[in-house]
Amino acid sequence: MDPEAQTVAAMIGLYCRAHHSAETVPCEACAGLLAYALERIEKCPFGSRKPVCNKCTVHCYKPEMRARIRVVMRFAGPRMLLRHPRLAIRHLVRSRRYFE
Ligand SMILES: [Zn+2]
Repeated sequence: MDPEAQTVAAMIGLYCRAHHSAETVPCEACAGLLAYALERIEKCPFGSRKPVCNKCTVHCYKPEMRARIRVVMRFAGPRMLLRHPRLAIRHLVRSRRYFE
């Protein structure tokens, strides 16, 4: 899995675990969001040279999905440093912010 995909999967996992008391993480709703996010990464016209999403000029997320992923990013962003430092630092090097 590419690092961008790993990062979004980890963030949705952190958010889901904290907010939804589902038996499986991610829960059904979060799994749908993750599938959507992974599909957007896969179809990104910039490929491996893609900018981080909030700096991107394409804005490929549907407004509803963009709103949902922003909530996840706001919550999970600061927690990523503790839980997934390698992914978080790699991401921070590329962008100070994510979906803001
Ligand atoms: Zn969930």
